[in-house]
Amino acid sequence: MISLVSIIIPAYNEAENIPHITSALGKTMETSRYEYEIIIVNDGSTDSTARVIQELSLQNPHLLYIELSKNYGHQLALKAGMDHAKGDCVISMDCDMQHPPEMIPSMLEKWEEGYEVVYTLRKDDAEQSRRKRITSKLFYKVINKIANIRLEDGTADFRLVDRRIVDILKKFKENDPFLRGLLKWIGFRQYAITYQPGQRYAGKSKYTLRKMLSLAIHGVMSFSIRPLYLAVYLGLGFSALSVLYIPYVLFAFYSGTEVPGWASVIMTIVFFGGLQLSVLGIIGIYVGKIFMQTKNRPNYIVRATNIVNQSYDIAKF
Ligand code: UDP
Ligand code: MG
Repeated sequence: MISLVSIIIPAYNEAENIPHITSALGKTMETSRYEYEIIIVNDGSTDSTARVIQELSLQNPHLLYIELSKNYGHQLALKAGMDHAKGDCVISMDCDMQHPPEMIPSMLEKWEEGYEVVYTLRKDDAEQSRRKRITSKLFYKVINKIANIRLEDGTADFRLVDRRIVDILKKFKENDPFLRGLLKWIGFRQYAITYQPGQRYAGKSKYTLRKMLSLAIHGVMSFSIRPLYLAVYLGLGFSALSVLYIPYVLFAFYSGTEVPGWASVIMTIVFFGGLQLSVLGIIGIYVGKIFMQTKNRPNYIVRATNIVNQSYDIAKF
């Protein structure tokens, strides 16, 4: 039997890129021995993306779309695509040609060899902005230190996963899943291939510094409660220091050299005020996550789709 390959592409204001990537994928897949479907997830675009996709899908029977009710962000758009895909394996990639379609045949080859996850590692790219390179390096350093998983530097959301893993992921009731981490956590046989990223075909990066920062914090906090331990260690550390300080205070009091000491008091107040606020913030984020999870809201809402006989029931929303 011929295997079906689902290719998922999240798109946020990518009207110019969509015709290009779909025709590039068409060329790659037509020469392969697989059936394929391309699922474009329109993540609440405000440009003409929705119209472009609909028009293209009338001419191209391989092209399916899911239109989300608003901008939910890259990760949830990917989740929506995975929930709706019917393929024996699912490949996710960006819309902008930075993930070269020519890599797909080698990913499929590894899948045929029995790997359930074929992920990709981006080679360092001189064209990439300094900011992006530094923030990305920092992100992987922090997450590997704090969270209990190991993510290699440069793992993007360009990967192939087997149907079995997609089905496992579908069962997760996690609010706002961090896919990159979850896939590592699930395990199975995983294979990494490196690739040279392409140039963004049209438009600008949709990942603002704010979105990247929020992904980073989310990535760390959804995988580990270690930041809470940090609060405990800091508290213990400063209690220990105060034990050294108290004899000095007593000595100053009894020897009558005690001074008004405005500067040291203010500095201590400011320092510990800041420390307490940040520790409270860490606890607050976790409380917030519990709050969101107990609401049990759907991760995303679909506004329109041309996928029929969905394996995923959107009617329940
Ligand atoms: N994207 C999305 N929702 C968002 C932001 C980005 O679906 O809120 C999509 C975007 O259209 C692209 C992919 O995620 O297909 C990666 O985004 P981008 O290329 O802007 O990020 P970069 O490559 O600069 O990290
Ligand atoms: Mg990109």
